[in-house]
Amino acid sequence: MFNISIFGGGYIGTVSGGCLSKLGNKVTIVEKDRKKIELLNRGIAPIVEPGIDGLIKTAYMELGLKATSDAETAVLNSDVSFVCVGTPSTIEGELCIDYIFNVMKNIGSALKKKDTFHVIAVRSTIVPGTIQKCIQIIEQISKKNMGVDFSVCSNPEFLREGSAIDDYFNPPYTLIGAYDAKAANTLKIIYSRINADIHIVEVREAELIKYINNAFHALKVGFANEVGLICKKLGIDSHKLMALFCLDKKLNLSDSYLKPGFAFGGSCLSKDLRALTYISKKQNLKTPILNNIIPSNENIISHVFSMIEATKNSNVGIIGLAFKKGTDDLRESPLVSLTERLIGKGYEVKVYDPSVSEAKLFGANKEYAISHIKHLEKCLVDEDELDKFIEFADTLVIGSSYQTLSKYSNGLFSQSKQVIDLVRYNNSIVSNGNYTGIAW
Ligand code: NAD
Repeated sequence: MFNISIFGGGYIGTVSGGCLSKLGNKVTIVEKDRKKIELLNRGIAPIVEPGIDGLIKTAYMELGLKATSDAETAVLNSDVSFVCVGTPSTIEGELCIDYIFNVMKNIGSALKKKDTFHVIAVRSTIVPGTIQKCIQIIEQISKKNMGVDFSVCSNPEFLREGSAIDDYFNPPYTLIGAYDAKAANTLKIIYSRINADIHIVEVREAELIKYINNAFHALKVGFANEVGLICKKLGIDSHKLMALFCLDKKLNLSDSYLKPGFAFGGSCLSKDLRALTYISKKQNLKTPILNNIIPSNENIISHVFSMIEATKNSNVGIIGLAFKKGTDDLRESPLVSLTERLIGKGYEVKVYDPSVSEAKLFGANKEYAISHIKHLEKCLVDEDELDKFIEFADTLVIGSSYQTLSKYSNGLFSQSKQVIDLVRYNNSIVSNGNYTGIAW
């Protein structure tokens, strides 16, 4: 059992207050709104949410839940503070962090008078770097030391209004972004009675994840709605269609296609997207999410082109040409587009792809390749020319990883070369002066 102070008695603070009381903790909610304090101190929830009235009433009547505006006393009488104040958008769309920093100032001045270790867990949604600023504020005001006298963690909240209490007790997982084990362990004990795996992660990862989750949820809604518009025009039941879509747990609702890296390609994805957006255009529909997938993909190719330009080398070696490893299919391959663009801009380009040999290209595949890279045969190198290829390339782009390259690893990552990695060729290499990963 812990003594807990919760800053903010809004949706997250009130639900947390009720749930943490139910889990056996002694909770004080610190609020600045007098009306909310008054309601909470009569056992009445200041929010509307299924099950909240009973939860707050019991917490108040039987478990010692109370509310106050006195931040100092609440901090002095607690081991852990959960920060649940609002983080609204400014008019420009930037995060307004003032409420968080005001709370940190309150906690900082209370900590001046506190001798025991205090854990601060920020449940509000905050951009990466905010926890560092919170630490600075508290250290400056309290003259105490992070990791010695107190610790600030990022502990994002995943609940949804409307099912908040159930979500609180059954989150997808609990994330604790902590700089020190002492704080992480305290939070782990508090969450040990909650039905979810606990992951201790880096602070900046915990800060960012909620934005990525919410962006994806918003993308899912927007995607499904655009599918709905097209279905309706075609006289197809969109709910039946999306139910079918959701049955595919292998490729649709899974971790497939969710690793950041290089652009997609191949004979199907772009072609089928074009056909789908053509239908929507013909039906006079606006489907901006679907329409912008190909431009987003092209932007990734342009991004890699800029990375190559930035190396200021004119001899470029590219490993991989087909749209993915293990196939010779060059149709709509982003590596073909990249090669074409580099040659067009006057770069000397050599390409190694063990699955692609000009002599073996046929039909549409060959036509596509030649129409984009006129003198393909001059670019392609064979396995027995790999030594020369590696020596030639002042900038080396790893667009595919092939077993045949493993014996050349020293040459690939030599100091004299700029390496641009699109596939995370080796997990243990991090971006440095010579090596740059596209997204790591
Ligand atoms: P809210 O506006 O309902 O509650 C915030 C409360 O903080 C208000 O009651 C306000 O009076 C109080 N407050 C502000 N400054 C204070 C201070 N200095 N001291 C004490 N109290 C103070 O906000 P919310 O919906 O509970 O969201 C809180 C945070 O949690 C936000 O960052 C939000 O993005 C995040 N979040 C919200 C949800 C949700 O479904 N609402 C879900 C996950 C995460």
